[in-house]
Amino acid sequence: MIYLDYQATTPLAPEVVATMQPWIGDKFANPHSPYTAGREAAAAISVARERVEVATGLDGGHVAFTGSATEAINWAIRGTLEDNPRRKIVTIATEHAAVLDTANWWGRHHDVTILPVDSNGMVDLDTVAEAVDDQTALVAAMLVNNEIGVIQPIAAIARIAHEHGALMVCDAVQGLGRVAIPEGPDMVAMSAHKIHGPKAIGALWMKHGKEPRPLIHGGGQEEGLRSGTLSPALCVGFGTAARLATERFAQDAQHVADLWSAAINHLDDGWIINGSEEDRYKGNLNIRREGLDSARLLADLRGIAISLGSACASGSGRPSHVLRALGLGDAEARASIRIGYGRYTERDELLESVSQINQAARAQGV
Ligand code: PLP
Repeated sequence: MIYLDYQATTPLAPEVVATMQPWIGDKFANPHSPYTAGREAAAAISVARERVEVATGLDGGHVAFTGSATEAINWAIRGTLEDNPRRKIVTIATEHAAVLDTANWWGRHHDVTILPVDSNGMVDLDTVAEAVDDQTALVAAMLVNNEIGVIQPIAAIARIAHEHGALMVCDAVQGLGRVAIPEGPDMVAMSAHKIHGPKAIGALWMKHGKEPRPLIHGGGQEEGLRSGTLSPALCVGFGTAARLATERFAQDAQHVADLWSAAINHLDDGWIINGSEEDRYKGNLNIRREGLDSARLLADLRGIAISLGSACASGSGRPSHVLRALGLGDAEARASIRIGYGRYTERDELLESVSQINQAARAQGV
């Protein structure tokens, strides 16, 4: 199989597997236990935490581990809004379901504003400024879009939030290790499995003093912010993935830019790129072709793992809410595919896949 679905998840880095190994074997002590083996596990977690903090590139904050980025986002939103005299959240139509569904859950009884994007997938800053007011508790905006790869102006959005005394949370799940996270957000959500780390561990970076109220109560771990026994294996794996992301940042970015150019040049005429070509992460190539039946194309290309849209939306039969937000109709959305590549993708396998995608589209007569 040629794996081209890096937005859904990424292959584990060999270094991650190696450093996790002891922690799923003999080193099984509870990291919150007071004896030597427990303290050793706690020390490994503390190194991992620091590595995740360094990978964010942000100052003046700290990281708490969570069970996923979905949990980190739920925590940031619910924990900021709970008991807040301000009752309003502002977010963007192209956000991940973790943000939109949590915001809409809040919106059952309170105020939620969901901002539109233009045909390139970009939010307009004037629209943000009009929506955010002194009733706004939180603005939520993602750094890199998981479906179309566009990069929102996070620093400017954070500035608008702060001008009105609101906080800002950034979903940086697809951005961490791929593009620089701008200064500005009060909270940043991340996920290990998008940076060649293990699944089922995420993190929330919080500016000192801006921590949301706990979502999960219990043993008081993570300084009382997020209860539950931490998994040393998952934390260490995340830490190693974060260290690699920091060390290989420039190299990975160059590799992805080279792959983007090669893939674009190899595509037949007639493919249209979904989302801004300028403001984007280049490891995400979301394209459409008039009249294409993308589900049939995927079925024809069984040796290649690509996606119809977001992994969460695909399978539901519903056209992607992100492509719809760009103004695409059902037919255009259903004629779209997402090709995602990164650190371990080889140029030849990508070009071979693009050739097969071209051929399969031509076979449909489109
Ligand atoms: N936000 C974005 C942009 C994502 O792409 C994903 C994963 O698909 C998530 C949030 C949720 O991350 P997790 O799988 O850690 O819950």
